[in-house]
Amino acid sequence: MKGSVRSQNVTKKFGEVVALKPLSLDIAPGTLVTLLGPSGCGKTTTLRLIAGLESASEGRILIGGEDVTHLSATYRRVSMVFQSYALFPHMTVAENVGYGLSVKGMPRAEVKARAEAGLETVGLKGFGTRLPSELSGGQQQRVAVARAIVLEPEVLLLDEPLSNLDAKLRRHVREEIRQIQQRLGLTAVYVTHDQEEAMAVSDRIIVMKNAEVAQEGTPHDLYDRPANAFIADFIGDANLIDLEVTQSGAETEIVLQGRRLRLPLQSAAIGPAKLVLRPHHVRLSHDPAPQRFAAEVTYAAWLGNSVQYTLSSDGGPIFAIAPPQPLPFRQGDNVQLGFAPEDVRLVPA
Ligand code: ATP
Repeated sequence: MKGSVRSQNVTKKFGEVVALKPLSLDIAPGTLVTLLGPSGCGKTTTLRLIAGLESASEGRILIGGEDVTHLSATYRRVSMVFQSYALFPHMTVAENVGYGLSVKGMPRAEVKARAEAGLETVGLKGFGTRLPSELSGGQQQRVAVARAIVLEPEVLLLDEPLSNLDAKLRRHVREEIRQIQQRLGLTAVYVTHDQEEAMAVSDRIIVMKNAEVAQEGTPHDLYDRPANAFIADFIGDANLIDLEVTQSGAETEIVLQGRRLRLPLQSAAIGPAKLVLRPHHVRLSHDPAPQRFAAEVTYAAWLGNSVQYTLSSDGGPIFAIAPPQPLPFRQGDNVQLGFAPEDVRLVPA
């Protein structure tokens, strides 16, 4: 189907280095899918394989249902946006945007019209006669996006497109990229190592680790149902607390710091596991109760709209976020730490 991207058991080796273990992806037309993961996990390699900038060691790649495994980058209907923008400094903004069309032999007048339309799409109408150096970093990246979309690609590939922008601008440009992608109904594959960015722009996220997929799903899937401790820690913040699953079924019985608790969730297996406790789900109070645990506040940071606590407990350090009201706890306070059973998850140890 037009705009779909599939890979079937694609691998990539650089000499002895396995950059990608057998990877099978299925990206639906019109969706933005992000490859997310720590440095060196194989994200960029995957993107470059889709672009045709690398050739697969094994497996097949299909774009729009067509097998492009052996098709060079020039003939694949994809456009790539790079981290570095890669604009030609001596060409005007409009010439940069129209460059790919000129190379394809499109008549000048049409190139000009399309470049103008492209600049309008990214909110840079009227900037065509400037040089790239006369634009801000965010504007330059929008020019790079315009240059990619005027080619009317079947798939837009974005490799860490926001890395060279400062934090505030990053948020602004990522919203623009997402809106353009949705408005044009483009299929997009987006690479980042920033989980917040991934959650903000994606229909689906493919988390990669050690050259393979660790988990794939919507941002909600990954946050609410992490498959393992790595995902729980990587997608959002999480406290991971050791425990023992003693009984599993519709309800799970656990032993946590010597206390036996029942949780209204299904666990995988009996034995050692980890409790995933999000910082904003940690409940702090002064009063002991059967399902609460003693902890000491080792650090309290007031951030205006929240208070962040670091606590020491028998289960190790715990990170908590609480509203600033009622009166925050102070450093050195002995507190009771609890959670609502429905807020936590269990993952394999
Ligand atoms: P980053 O976020 O740092 O860009 P990444 O997840 O995009 O990382 P890749 O660039 O895909 O990771 O690299 C995956 C692995 O393949 C790494 O171990 C890397 O060193 C290796 N690799 C990538 N390109 C080459 C190459 N041309 N020659 C040799 N090894 C390579």
